[in-house]
Formats: sequence, structure tokens, C-alpha cells
Amino acid sequence: MGDTIFGKIIRREIPADIVYEDDEVLAFRDLNPQAPVHVLFIPKRAIPTLDDAQPEDVALLGRLLLAAAGYARREGFAEQGYRVVNNCREYGGQTVYHLHLHLLAGRHLGWPPG
Ligand code: AMP
Repeated sequence: MGDTIFGKIIRREIPADIVYEDDEVLAFRDLNPQAPVHVLFIPKRAIPTLDDAQPEDVALLGRLLLAAAGYARREGFAEQGYRVVNNCREYGGQTVYHLHLHLLAGRHLGWPPG
């Protein structure tokens, strides 16, 4: 699987508004925010889609989720609530083939999504 724009962000080849980083996870603000808070959580080790994730990725997937939850708590909107989304492939609306979680917050989010 080829490189993506997120690979360039990880390698600091293009700028991003990074809000969280640890040894396995990077988080930065979405360029085209869909809510007052819209942050993307990505693994530094690229997995193209959720469908490509393997049993050995279970800890990494858990770390992504907990990184998003921890950010929400630290930023003070966890109590109010938020949404974490993964878009998988074409019908899921995925445009960047480097697995990522969208963290959306700061407004009441409708359901079902479009
Ligand atoms: P998805 O459609 O689920 O694959 O989400 C990809 C997201 O990446 C979209 O919400 C884009 O707005 C966002 N995006 C694309 N390029 C960048 C970038 N250079 N920096 C930050 N976010 C980006």
C-alpha cells in the first residue's frame, strides 16, 4: 500500500496542527472541520483501512480509541459528549487510506449520519 498525506504528516514533510503524540499515535486537527472540534487520530504504523486490521493490531486500535477519549477528557468536553468515527472504504466515505479515527465535538451531532 502506497504512502498517503498522513504519512507525510507523520514524517513532518507537510505541516499539521498536531494536538497529541505518543510513540504509536499522532493526532491533528482536520483541515476541513465538520464540528467545532474535529481531530484525527492515526497510528504511526500505517494500516490502510479498518478492514485491513489484524488480531496483532488489537492493542494499537485500543490505543487510538483511548487517545481520543483522553484528549476529550483533558480538553473538557467528555462530559458533554462527542463522537468517534471510522470511515471504511468507498461506501464508508474514506478518502485517505491510512486508518484514522475522527473525533467530533462541540455541537449536537445528528443521527443517522448522511
Ligand atoms: P476520511 O474521509 O474518513 O478518509 O477522512 C480524511 C480526512 O482527512 C478528511 O476529513 C480531510 O478533511 C482530512 N484531511 C485531508 N488532508 C488533510 C491534511 N493535510 N491535514 C489535516 N486533515 C486532512
